[in-house]
Amino acid sequence: MASDLWISGIEPESIVDGPGFRYVIFTQGCPHHCPGCHNPQTHPFTGGKKADIPAILREIGEDPILQGVTFSGGEPFCQPEPLCEIARGVKAMGKDVTAFSGYTLEQLVEKGKEEPAVLELLRLCDLLIDGPYIEAQRDLTLRYRGSRNQRLIYDPGKEIG
Ligand code: SF4
Repeated sequence: MASDLWISGIEPESIVDGPGFRYVIFTQGCPHHCPGCHNPQTHPFTGGKKADIPAILREIGEDPILQGVTFSGGEPFCQPEPLCEIARGVKAMGKDVTAFSGYTLEQLVEKGKEEPAVLELLRLCDLLIDGPYIEAQRDLTLRYRGSRNQRLIYDPGKEIG
């Protein structure tokens, strides 16, 4: 049984957070504090609400328009275990998984040496959008991203080996 998941909110049908229509889970808690962040209410690690994971999976399964789920923040990789549980359920439905992170892929691999669930979550992702939001590199024309340093990394699990 995975640990609890704390979220700041859910957007059940988004078209801006990854490919196609997506069910977006905004996690609560972020250590990065990027200047200019659009979701400062997600920063505290206390607060938010406890997610009902079975209800979330049910809701995703009942919406045929969804291509997949997106984990956004907050920092999803601060709660990798419960997100792995959701990601496994979503993949079993034939849908895909996108995750945003304020960590770079390289930092996540490093973090994964202490927390294997971080690596498992990376392996479950079809798309990772990595790196902090850097206001000086802000670019509104980028797909899914806010600043030019952020990368679209498809199938990040293959980078781990
Ligand atoms: S990683 Fe995302 S949620 Fe966290 S401070 Fe940066 S932009 Fe905001």
